[in-house]
Amino acid sequence: MLVEYDLDALGRRAHKERIAAGPPTMWRYSDFLPVTKLGRVVSLGEGFTPLVPAGAVGRRIGLPRLMVKDEGPNPTGTFKARGASCGVSMAVQLGIRRVTLPTAGNAGGAWACYGAAAGLEVRVVMPRDAPRANRLECELFGAEVMLVSGTVSDATRLVAEMVESPGWFDVSTLKEPYRIEGKKTLGLEIAEQLGWRMPDAIVYPAGGGVGIIGIWRAVQQLRALGWLRGDSPRLMVTQAEGCAPIVEAFERGLEESLTWRHPRTFAHGLRIQKAPGSFLVLRAIRETGGTAVAVGDTEIADAMAALGGAGISACPEGAATLAAAARLRERGDLGPKDRVVLINTGNALKYPEAMEVATGG
Ligand SMILES: *Cc1c(COP(=O)(O)O)cnc(C)c1O
Repeated sequence: MLVEYDLDALGRRAHKERIAAGPPTMWRYSDFLPVTKLGRVVSLGEGFTPLVPAGAVGRRIGLPRLMVKDEGPNPTGTFKARGASCGVSMAVQLGIRRVTLPTAGNAGGAWACYGAAAGLEVRVVMPRDAPRANRLECELFGAEVMLVSGTVSDATRLVAEMVESPGWFDVSTLKEPYRIEGKKTLGLEIAEQLGWRMPDAIVYPAGGGVGIIGIWRAVQQLRALGWLRGDSPRLMVTQAEGCAPIVEAFERGLEESLTWRHPRTFAHGLRIQKAPGSFLVLRAIRETGGTAVAVGDTEIADAMAALGGAGISACPEGAATLAAAARLRERGDLGPKDRVVLINTGNALKYPEAMEVATGG
């Protein structure tokens, strides 16, 4: 499910000046969001994160105009806060009291946090081998945590069974349309921060792909309003070599991805065997002239260290975009003049094991 807007009405309502004068959170774009009762918004200061120039890191891979959209400063340390803030606000507006979701880890943490702030009951289902920090943060925020043997796909099945009985509302990716709207603000923000001109390319680490679908929707809506100067950005997706169903589908010309059998990567957010929205991710890539590339865990660890050396705390998923950009530059998909934005989806602090690998410890 996706939210559709009356773009004519949106065009009459929204003004760049009003956005510029708005709060330093993603709610400065409330005209572009589904919440109508703004007094009920559940906000903890998410969004309006820095777009950091990363020329020193970029020059080493032939991309001097590299920038990093750093999502680490968000509440719960990842961009999942955007989806949770919008989703929980809508749940409150719609009178929903109990929500449940499957997660690789960070979505659970964000929903537990925003759910707690809103006084909702939250039940999170995650794989037993999800990062310890995620299980603990969910418990800290008072959510009920269920651990399943297996993967996010197994957690998804369990959630689907649970919501058969009344009382619990399923906020899984794309079953609930508002998470994507929250993540759409990433694209709106990049546009505003660059003076309403998009970069030449955006590199995104796709698990379920919610973020890149959101960015694509931002570009489409801004285009429809005539707000964007210059071209649309080419949307580029990276995944880990040990779990790359969308990259595989892109390379084979498929319209949706197949199920990846044995997901193996230390970038937990990318261990999604089959994304329900893979067809949308693939459309976003193809319609914008983008591409997809898989990178290995060793490259990801090296990229974490490289970003760390520039003062950027990158989670493995976020660091994968730097490894991907290096590959894309080598194979000619990115050129030396391109303005490239990497989405660092979260802070390294939640991943002590990955930091150990990255520092050779
Ligand atoms: C969830 C997550 C991703 C993947 O996001 P999708 O929207 O599912 O593609 C990437 N990085 C981190 C840190 C995440 O938590």
